[in-house]
Amino acid sequence: MCDFPQDGKIDQMMKLFAQPWVFGCAVSQVTRLPPPSLKEIAFIGRSNVGKSSFLNSLLNRKRLARTSNTPGCTRSLNFYFPAISLKGDEAPSVSRARKPRQYPVAMVDMPGYGFARAPRIELDTWISLVFEYLRNRKILLEVCLLVDSRFGFTSRDLRTIDLLEQSEIEYLIVLTKLDKIVRSPEDPRVHNLVTDLETQMQSMKWHRGIWATSVSKRWGLDAVRREICTRVVSAFETCDQLSSFRRDM
Ligand code: GDP
Repeated sequence: MCDFPQDGKIDQMMKLFAQPWVFGCAVSQVTRLPPPSLKEIAFIGRSNVGKSSFLNSLLNRKRLARTSNTPGCTRSLNFYFPAISLKGDEAPSVSRARKPRQYPVAMVDMPGYGFARAPRIELDTWISLVFEYLRNRKILLEVCLLVDSRFGFTSRDLRTIDLLEQSEIEYLIVLTKLDKIVRSPEDPRVHNLVTDLETQMQSMKWHRGIWATSVSKRWGLDAVRREICTRVVSAFETCDQLSSFRRDM
C-alpha cells in the first residue's frame, strides 16, 4: 500500500523536469532501438509545428532538441534521458545517460511528418519507422501529438490519430504557438478552440485531453509536465519502484 497521496508522488516526479537532460541517441532503423529499460514518452507532429521548441522548453534546455525552420529537418527517433545520477558539477555525458538504471522515463522526439519535398523513399522509411515504433514499443507510455493552434487538425494529424487509436496508445493533443492567435491563454477563443477539437475527438478512446501551449510565452508547459508525470506515476505498479527512483533524485 502507498502511504503518501497521489499528488505527492506527482509533485516528486515533477522534479524530473528540473534535472539536466541529455541527448542519448538517434535511431533511424527500428532494429536499432535502445534496449527497453525505460518507459518512454514520445512527441510527434508535422514538421514546423514547434515540436523541437516545445521539447526544449519542457525539459528546460535551450538547444537539446534541434529547432529549425527547415521542414523535415529531423528524420530519426531522438532519445533524451534525465541525467539524474550525475553528482555535483559533473558534466552530463551521453555514456552515463546510456546506462540509465532507475530513471523512470525517456523522451523520444519522433521525426516530423508532412515534408512534401522529401523523396518518396525517405517518406516510406519514415512511415515504417514511426509505424513500427508506435505499434510495437511496449514501453511507450503515451504520445504527445503536437498540433498548430492556428490550423487545427490537418489530414495527416487525423491519420496519426487513427494510427494511435488502432495501436491502442494513450495520447495527449498539445496545441502549439497559442500566442500566434491570442494575447492571453484566458481569451475565450482558446476555450472555443479546445471545445471544438474535443468535439471532433469525441469518439476517440485513447486520447487523454487537449493542452493549449505557447513556448514563447511559456503558457501551459507545467500543465503538460504534470500530465506526463501523472501518467508516469500511474505506470509504476508499486510504491517501492517509485521510492527507489525518489532516493536517486
Ligand atoms: P519543429 O520542426 O516541429 O521541430 O518546429 P520548431 O521547434 O523548429 O519550430 C518551428 C518554428 O516555430 C521556429 O521558428 C520556432 O521559433 C517557432 N515556434 C515554435 N514554438 C513557438 C511558439 O510557441 N510561439 C511562436 N510564436 N513561435 C514558435
